Amino acid sequence: MQRRNRDIMIDQTIIQQLKQNRDAADEQLQVLIEREEANTPLAAAADEVRRAHYGTEVYLRGLIEFTNVCKNNCYYCGIRAGNHTVKRYSLTREEILDCCAEGYALGFRTFVLQGGENPAYTDTEIYRIVAEIRSRFPDCAITLSIGEKPRASYQAYFDAGADRYLLRHETANEVHYARLHPAEMSLANRKRCLWDLKEIGYQVGAGFMVGAPYETTAHLIEDLRFLQELQPDMIGIGPYLPHQQTPFRDCRSGTLSQTLRMLSILRLMFPYALIPATTALGTISPIGRELGLKAGANVVMPNLSPVRVRKQYELYDDKICTGEEAAQCRGCLARRVSNAGYQIVSSRGDVRREIEE
Ligand code: SAH
Repeated sequence: MQRRNRDIMIDQTIIQQLKQNRDAADEQLQVLIEREEANTPLAAAADEVRRAHYGTEVYLRGLIEFTNVCKNNCYYCGIRAGNHTVKRYSLTREEILDCCAEGYALGFRTFVLQGGENPAYTDTEIYRIVAEIRSRFPDCAITLSIGEKPRASYQAYFDAGADRYLLRHETANEVHYARLHPAEMSLANRKRCLWDLKEIGYQVGAGFMVGAPYETTAHLIEDLRFLQELQPDMIGIGPYLPHQQTPFRDCRSGTLSQTLRMLSILRLMFPYALIPATTALGTISPIGRELGLKAGANVVMPNLSPVRVRKQYELYDDKICTGEEAAQCRGCLARRVSNAGYQIVSSRGDVRREIEE
């Protein structure tokens, strides 16, 4: 018992230092990443920081999963090219615009267009889609999450009116990256994309899965170090969850507890960041997103995709929110956010880099 008390005291000191310096030595991060006892004090510190910077505001992103066709074969992902059991779909420009119109009426001011890497959507087509959303919904932010592209393509989408881009780096360790992806994919290219996006002027989001196969604490620390270099505006993390039609079907899930610790560490290291309580977090636990908000997250991403395709965008088994209409998803999340002690706001929710001390 004595020792236990001492350990908790040590955690508190590390946490206070992390809060103050927005940085810590690898050995200290290791303690926070690995120790269950750190959860409560970490969440308390992260919540203080989040309230200092963003108050109790939670930003809404309307997620439009517009295609599950993908040319890539990431070993963890349910919509990988090698999964021949999933029914593939691709929404038309008009269908995507209908999702935006429905979202706009429900108060969404950010649309996130996410999909597999589907070559059927040429750069010209993405340009048209973005330009049309930009002209019909001038007060909204447009976020793309469509994978790795040449710099010129990113530039074209930006010129069409896209503001933000989400591209999780997945893992910042080369060897780990190679265990999660086939040989034709590389961490170097993923990082090149992130730097290009940043230079072009996008608000950029990176991130990783917690508890991915072969992941170690050292890898998670490398992820944090890479994020310190990149200084992204948005950071998306969630637990790894297995999908039956992937080579990793028998791998264990990440844990709720470690994901929550990582969320709090991110909030302390990146006070300004926009950090979502993800669908994967809601899938691993019925109150995962509420706990995520209390641990430092400040964004939720209700689904705006047409219900008829929802089930087909299954990145992992038992993904939640595949049966409800957009309005239901929004209502359900608004309740969850307010139960956790925060409020959804209807603004674009841009990053606030300036610190309100
Ligand atoms: N093709 C786009 C979108 C990928 S899907 C891109 O490359 O960015 C969005 C995120 O879902 C991925 O970046 C990955 O981190 C996450 N994801 C995929 N499979 C998952 C799984 N089995 N468990 C948890 N998260 C997963």
